Amino acid sequence: MTGITIALSKGRIFEETLPLLAAAGIVPTEDPEKSRKLIIGTNRDDVRVVIVRASDVPTYVQYGAADLGIAGKDVLLEHGGVGLYQPLDLNIAKCRMCVAAPAGFDYAAAVRRGARLRIATKYIVVAREHFAAKGVHVDLIKLYGSMELAPLAGLADAIVDLVSSGSTLKANHLVEVEQIMNISSRLVVNQAALKMKRELLQPVIAAIEGAIR
Ligand code: ATP
Ligand code: MG
Repeated sequence: MTGITIALSKGRIFEETLPLLAAAGIVPTEDPEKSRKLIIGTNRDDVRVVIVRASDVPTYVQYGAADLGIAGKDVLLEHGGVGLYQPLDLNIAKCRMCVAAPAGFDYAAAVRRGARLRIATKYIVVAREHFAAKGVHVDLIKLYGSMELAPLAGLADAIVDLVSSGSTLKANHLVEVEQIMNISSRLVVNQAALKMKRELLQPVIAAIEGAIR
């Protein structure tokens, strides 16, 4: 493909990305929430958007199936970032990664005792690093969604998950017991494409950079 392919996921990242793309003169011709199409054109003949799962964005960009993408720091840390250039923190889709536990569970005391904790999460890489750095022994249980259920159902003592308002935790009687890191979404670029398609990509990256300032 001689033009530019941009990998985006539906939902909050897409919404918050539209103004940034617009600043670069790129306007998708369809709304992915309404359309079932996975490849969406734009006002520019040489720019298209592919709609993928949030966690698949780095993979599309890594292998060059997309030249650019936008992905959360959470997703990028789990992926590892191989083959990706990450020039910009877009400051969108902001939330934090935290440890949460049932309101009645004394997490701090369990850690002090050196108890072995069962932690359910989608973020195995980040969770492993976090607990290893603290010297806390954990059994990590991989889930793909609805982490909040795990402690309630007796699958885990605590979870590692993303939180923004905290209302989902609250609704499930969980409390944030530790913050791990702040999360926002980043622009990712295929490293080879950045060299081969520099004249096409550089103005888009520069316009997005201008828009976030
Ligand atoms: P899927 O819904 O396809 O399973 P997902 O849950 O990773 O994937 P989204 O919920 O759209 O997809 O989240 C996309 C990204 O938005 C996440 O990777 C994260 O960086 C960010 N994000 C997730 N939850 C929140 C939140 N509550 N507030 C703000 N940003 C969030
Ligand atoms: Mg989701």
